[in-house]
Amino acid sequence: MNKIDKIYEGKAKILYTTQDPDLLIQYFKDDATAFNAAKKGTIHEKGIMNNRIAAKIFEYLAGCGIPTHFERQLSDREMLIKKVSIVPLEVIVRNRAAGTLCRLLGLAEGAALACPTLEFCYKNDALGDPLVNEYHIRALGLATDEEMTKISGLALSINGHLQAFFRKLNIELIDFKLEFGRAKGDIILADEISPDTCRLWELGTGEKLDKDRFRRDLGNIEEAYQEVLRRVSA
Ligand code: 5GP
Repeated sequence: MNKIDKIYEGKAKILYTTQDPDLLIQYFKDDATAFNAAKKGTIHEKGIMNNRIAAKIFEYLAGCGIPTHFERQLSDREMLIKKVSIVPLEVIVRNRAAGTLCRLLGLAEGAALACPTLEFCYKNDALGDPLVNEYHIRALGLATDEEMTKISGLALSINGHLQAFFRKLNIELIDFKLEFGRAKGDIILADEISPDTCRLWELGTGEKLDKDRFRRDLGNIEEAYQEVLRRVSA
């Protein structure tokens, strides 16, 4: 499978067409951005690590019966994926308070939540990906009610599977962001799941093993991603 045309370049990934109209190549870059791209940098070999971590996670989720866009890993930085039409929502699942939720509700970082929470943000860089509710989603036609039922069910189910997956690796899944796509009339998991898109804390110590190390200049960023890769590959 070869890359033909570049059809999209985002902050962390590039998408290329292939000779198969139903399949794309997703290429992982080392570029890192935070705070709606106000902070930019690179994390050495992040693309290689995230490609491997995301591949492992997609394989695990597929084994749990979750439909995903992942076909197979092609090379260090490339995976073959199903072509989808992305639902323009970031779906955020939280198990503990961190990041935006702390600022929104005045919670301490790490505060327990009585149940997992779901949030939806409208994928729109110019607006800074604003939080939206299901009425906004319906009013703007971003997804149908039927799609939202599927997306919410899948997101909560993925959360349960990933919590168990990471717990075995001595990692607590604090929160994460998902994106879904439409493919042949169905909703499937798309994008990536990696330390770029999750908050992962070492069980017991709470040490951060994710992109917050970049966002907050905590140092040892590459080492943290490498450690996640080492554990998911073990
Ligand atoms: P927060 O809303 O607290 O900033 O982020 C919640 C979770 O979703 C975190 O795990 C964060 O990494 C992820 N997340 C939210 N928005 C984005 C985004 O635009 N890009 C990436 N890579 N992750 C995001």
